[in-house]
Amino acid sequence: WPRYDVLTHRARTTPERTALIDADSGERWRYRALDGAVDSLAASLDDLGVSLGTRVGILLSTGPTYVRLLHAIWRLGGVAVPLNVQKTDAQLAAQAQRAAVDLLVCSGETAASATELGVDPAVSIDDAADVETATGVAPLPDAAAETLVPIARDVDSLALLLFTSGTTGQPKGVRLTRENLLASAEASAYRLGVKPGDRWLCCLPMYHMGGLAPAVRTALYGTTLVVQREFDASETAAVIDEYEISGVSLVPTMVKRMLDAGWTPPKNLDTVLLGGAPASESLLERALDREVPVYATYGTTETASQIATASPQQTADCPGTVGQPLVTTTIRILDGDEPADVGETGEIVVSGPTVTPGYLDEDRTTEAVDDYGFHTGDVGYRDADGRLWIVGRLDDRIVSGGENVDPEVVAGAIREHPAVDEVAVVGLPDEEWGERVAALVVGAVDTDEIREHCRERLAEFEVPKTVVVTDRIPRTPSGTVDREAVRERLRGAD
Ligand code: ATP
Repeated sequence: WPRYDVLTHRARTTPERTALIDADSGERWRYRALDGAVDSLAASLDDLGVSLGTRVGILLSTGPTYVRLLHAIWRLGGVAVPLNVQKTDAQLAAQAQRAAVDLLVCSGETAASATELGVDPAVSIDDAADVETATGVAPLPDAAAETLVPIARDVDSLALLLFTSGTTGQPKGVRLTRENLLASAEASAYRLGVKPGDRWLCCLPMYHMGGLAPAVRTALYGTTLVVQREFDASETAAVIDEYEISGVSLVPTMVKRMLDAGWTPPKNLDTVLLGGAPASESLLERALDREVPVYATYGTTETASQIATASPQQTADCPGTVGQPLVTTTIRILDGDEPADVGETGEIVVSGPTVTPGYLDEDRTTEAVDDYGFHTGDVGYRDADGRLWIVGRLDDRIVSGGENVDPEVVAGAIREHPAVDEVAVVGLPDEEWGERVAALVVGAVDTDEIREHCRERLAEFEVPKTVVVTDRIPRTPSGTVDREAVRERLRGAD
């Protein structure tokens, strides 16, 4: 880290505080112990040649090892490259190659995939003994911590190469610097009001920003990170109670499942950071009814997580807003090259110290980052009080018979139907209309009812020509609607 190694600083100043808890095993590390564990892991990586700029691929599930490994890589000035364990071996191999990964770290669970990625060396941590015999991936060697030489790191140097969820196509490889991560952690802590005794639960995948950001933030502020390998509506609720969790990040589908299972949050839970995808008004209302302290947030990988976040009060006053931008972030709404007026929609463009210097692919960087900042590809507007509202994505706009259709307007109208739980609206290629509006709906309704309901609320060209009622909306692992899978599903209906 630039000013100091955040974890070492905490080990010196608050050595006895609990840094990390494994919710699955109950194991705990105080700051001093975690710092020591990170030192010995870093020494082993050092022996394998990890140093300033070395790209270390991580093929692990969320867990305490992930946290130790991130800090160990950063301690040596290396670049962490989290890989999505849910991808196929071929997709992972392509990402590892695009990111020019120098070394791959896996676990017993992911070792079989690791051997398929073509990264040499690949090493395994944790249940390493079994792995060597089973797959040929060598366990991470032990090394003496004294061999570790502290390395000076620049704020502008690369800390992380992170792939987006790929909602709009191929996942993009995003470059993030140490400054990006620290600025994001600081601004986020300021907005959420971090206090010394806080305990943050992470049950999201750490190969996405929402799961990874708390690892930086909690270490920076000397608070406690509790990690749960996988989200489960009732088990996550039990962990929140058992470990007296004060904050947690969840995506809307997770909150919905918890509410469906009858969850009411305990009093000590003061922050539920809800983001990654739009939360419907009905979900927000249900959550507020149960006194869930919702901080509705909007963020991207390219901005090292949050851009804007609404407080529970703002959410109660104006359900659906994502609130004001974080303190270090500046937002512009651009209609073409012109700033949009208050209440007018346009592309959300973000600038500030959390914004990526660019993608792995330079052509993409030229397209998305310019003097105004990072062009998110998201469409939104600001209201007269400066609150931000997300409307949809630029790429998702449907042009049907020469008319522009905003899929979120159509989805919003369908959501008003009391029997509709979830909806996704996309454009499908159409010989007559160019594109036609199509809707995938979850709920106890039939397709004619949906069309009739839309006719009463929308212009004729906005009424979906294809409607399919199904039992679930396909989503990416981070909770955003997987629009390609939705199109696929709807195409199959014709
Ligand atoms: P790709 O860029 O490859 O298509 P992706 O956009 O899903 O993938 P992520 O960085 O994982 O990449 O997700 C960020 C996107 O998620 C935002 O650009 C936005 O479209 C959506 N998003 C995040 N939070 C919200 C929110 N609160 N409301 C609406 N959309 C949101």
